[in-house]
Parts: sequence; structure tokens; C-alpha cells
Amino acid sequence: MVQRALSAILKTLRIDRGDERVRCLRCGADLGDPETRRGAGLERFTNPDGCVFELIRFDELERVTLCGGYYSEASFYPGYAWASSQCGSCGYFIGWHFRGESDGFFGVTTDAVDIY
Ligand SMILES: [Zn+2]
Repeated sequence: MVQRALSAILKTLRIDRGDERVRCLRCGADLGDPETRRGAGLERFTNPDGCVFELIRFDELERVTLCGGYYSEASFYPGYAWASSQCGSCGYFIGWHFRGESDGFFGVTTDAVDIY
């Protein structure tokens, strides 16, 4: 329990610092280049089912695949449709890709990745 709390605090500190790398929590595949980071750290959202997600945004990610199509209902970012995203190495759910009129980005849920 203490280990988990410390891990969460470390993750938040690294995100605030902005020099983190992101890897899949399940298989360890490196997913993110910190140079493509977008936004100001953690963003918290609650979906219509009441599930809370903390997201970090990236313009680009490596070894990530999209599942299914894009949906605009209940998007965390108004004006952006979302598609579920998974680790390209092991298939673990890691968040969503959001697509707008002229740009797009990934929103990675901190529950699914390790920040190091
Ligand atoms: Zn993986």
C-alpha cells in the first residue's frame, strides 16, 4: 500500500517535471517520446460510467495501435473524437487517440503506463 502510494507520488513528480519516458505497464514497451508531450501535466476526467482517468497528452507515440473507429460521444476534449488505443506490443489498453478538425493527440491513462 505504501509502495503504491510512493509510486503514484513519484509518477506525479516526473510528470510535473516533463522529462519522463512512458512505457506499457504490462510488457514494458517504450511508448512515448517526451519531446512530443502536450499540455500541462495531468488532466483528470470522469467518464459517463463514473470511472476517473488521469491523462497525459502526447502528439505522437510509438508502438501504439488504435482499436475500432472514432466516436464523438462523451469526449473528454470537446471537438475531438476518440478511438481506444492499445500497446502495439501486447495489446494492453493505454488510453485514447483524440482527433480534431486539424490535429490529433494521444491521451494516455496513468493507470496503464509506467513513468520513468
Ligand atoms: Zn505492452
